[in-house]
This record gives sequence, C-alpha cells and structure tokens, in this order.
Amino acid sequence: MIRRSLSGLGFLALAFTAGCASTSSTAAKPIAVPTTPPAPAVNPFTGARFYVDPEFGKMVAKATAPTPEDGARLKKLTAFPTAVWLESLETAKLAGPTLDDALKQEAAGGGPIVPVFVIYNLPNRDCAAEGSRGELFVDKGGEALYQSQFIDVIAAAFAAHPSQKIAVVLEPDSLPNLVTNIEVPTCAAAEQIYRRGVAYAISKLSLPNVFIYLDAAHAGWLGWPKNLPRAVTLFKEVLATAGGADRIRGFAVNVSNYDPPREPKAQKSGPDDPSQDEIGYVEDLAAGLAKVGVTGKGFIIDTSRNGKGGIRSTPGNWCNVKGAGLGERPKVAPAPNIDAYFWVKTPGESDGTTDRKAARFDENCVSDDAMPGAPEAGELFAPYLIELTKNASPPL
Ligand code: BGC
Repeated sequence: MIRRSLSGLGFLALAFTAGCASTSSTAAKPIAVPTTPPAPAVNPFTGARFYVDPEFGKMVAKATAPTPEDGARLKKLTAFPTAVWLESLETAKLAGPTLDDALKQEAAGGGPIVPVFVIYNLPNRDCAAEGSRGELFVDKGGEALYQSQFIDVIAAAFAAHPSQKIAVVLEPDSLPNLVTNIEVPTCAAAEQIYRRGVAYAISKLSLPNVFIYLDAAHAGWLGWPKNLPRAVTLFKEVLATAGGADRIRGFAVNVSNYDPPREPKAQKSGPDDPSQDEIGYVEDLAAGLAKVGVTGKGFIIDTSRNGKGGIRSTPGNWCNVKGAGLGERPKVAPAPNIDAYFWVKTPGESDGTTDRKAARFDENCVSDDAMPGAPEAGELFAPYLIELTKNASPPL
C-alpha cells in the first residue's frame, strides 16, 4: 500500500479511538437490508473525471530512474488516476480525507470527480495464497472487526459526502476463491464469513451516491465454462443477502491481473475453453448473470498491467509477472457495457515478496514468470514500475 499519513492531532485522536474500539466489539452484527435507495443504474463515470491520487505521485517520485527516458516516463505517470486501496483498519480512516481532497481537485474546475476505492480487508484475506494475507482472521474475531472498524468507518465517510459520486471495487479475489479454491483450508474456514462479509459490505456501502463493483476475477480464472455458472450463482446468493442485485452497479474484472481487453490471437477452440480476453469475459459473465436473473450491470476492467498479452506461461501466475506493461489509460465507457478502463492495481506496487523467510512468502512470487527481488505486497517495487512504463501499450 502507498504510505499515507493522517496529519497532526487528527491522527492522534483517531489512533486513540481505534485503540479503545478494538477491545469493545466482539460479536458480528446481522446483515440488515439497506434503508436508503441504491445508486441509480447508470455509469457513474459519465461526464465525470477520475481522481488523481497525490500519494501515487509521491510513491512514483521515490523510484530511481536508470535513464533520462525512464525519468521522463515516470514523470508523465504521476498525472494519471489510480485507485485508492483501503486495505487495513488504519487505511479505512483515509476514505474521508480522500473524498475531501477529491472535492479540492473538483474546486479547481473541470467537472465532478469520482474517486475509485478498493475495499480489501476480509478476515482470512487472500485465502488461497500468502502474498496479501491481511490483519483479520476468522478465528480471532475478524468478522466483528471487519464490520465495526472497517466497513462501518468507510460507510460513515461515504455517507458524510452525499453529493459526491464514489466508485468501489469490492474485495478482489474473495468470492472467486470460494468458487475454485474451497479445498484450501484457509478458504474453507472463511467461506461463510466471506459470504456474510461481502453481503454486509454491500448492505452498508450501498448508498445513493456509491456505485459498487463486486470483484469477479478474470478470464483465465472464472472465465472457464466449468467455473462461470458456479460463480454467478454465488454472486446472486450473496447479493440476495445484501438486499438484492440492484444494490451494486456491476462487477470489476482483471484486478491486479494481466489479461488484455482484446487478444486478437486468442481464439476459443471449443465450448470448454475459457473466455479469450477480458472483453470476451465481460460478455460471457453478463450472459451467465442473465441466466440467473441479474441484468443491466456495468463493468470495470483493470488495465494497469495488461498492455502486453501472452507474457506468462500459465494464467495462474499472478505475482509480479515479468514483461508486463501499463495497459489502456483510464477511460470512460470504452466499449459496450464497460463503464471504465481503470488502473485499479497501483502500478509499481508489489504483489508479494521473493524473500523465502518472510511470513507472507508465496512460491508464485519466485515462479519463472515472476520478476526477482520483490518486496512485500503493496510496497514500491521500483524496477517493476520502470518495466511497466517501458512496456506501456499504448506507449506513455
Ligand atoms: C496489496 C495491498 C496493496 C494493493 C495495491 C495488494 O496486493 O496487498 O497492500 O495496496 O495490492 O497495490
């Protein structure tokens, strides 16, 4: 994660409140059907601009450029919008200040700004891998903490900014892991809490100004015909618990992944093949959702690292894949049903460490496809950032 700071006394007060709260809430709350109307079923980005996160610029400024050309590319990069990851109890407190900052950018002129937040802190997070394991656990009261000190904090900040449109990418990889990795003990243990946690998040965050995109993995994961029907059934069930499918705007695909929107060389050779690229996956997903009665959804495709196709030996390799380049620039409504191309994964942040001795070490981060020398997930991986900018397609 980008190191953000809460300044001055505000920080002390918040730290103190959090310290007290952590001992007080133990029981998880039931999921209540939301009482406010959902956000309208429209593309929230139409007529708006994306939020340019100054923290991203500061992180990029820390990367040393080996050549003047690299330096020039890095400089250009800082002007682009990226998602703001709320991925710990501490970072949940940044929702409010980020919205205030977006308002400031808006005041400078140029129309409304819609920030994109990624909400990523379920108990037993990243249950089928180690790289992004989080701070909450199912057997340590994680569900109650997730509700009261994470989702409720974010929901309060969103509710306090009712005139601002906000987009949310909800819990990357969580429900997808329940579709295909339920044999992993950490996932099996988290199944009910993932279902309830995502439903709770939707029920609380679904406000008239908040457009939620539930994570739906990518073509090479849920795009397989054996996985897709199970995925859409799970989505439908979780949405029913949250108050219905109209509580979300749609789905986010390819988050932190590498599948291009269009891969002209890839062809399905038969009905058992996966979706061939991310636009193909969105079409297949929309058709699958329609079969279970979920229609009219919009989609976000993460294009932060999918400029170059065919860079890995297997679609299952996810950690710091070499040869990746920045993909399409964030763009509103680039194709039918696509609300936006957006840089959801923060370009240049690691997916996981290559240090075998680290607690969160994952073998995938030392696969033949992975770039060596990586720091912990969320930390700046400067050589990787340089590669992404060099391989950018379209070029930076
Ligand atoms: C990490 C987060 C980070 C995010 C964006 C995830 O893999 O676990 O800490 O904020 O990527 O780079």
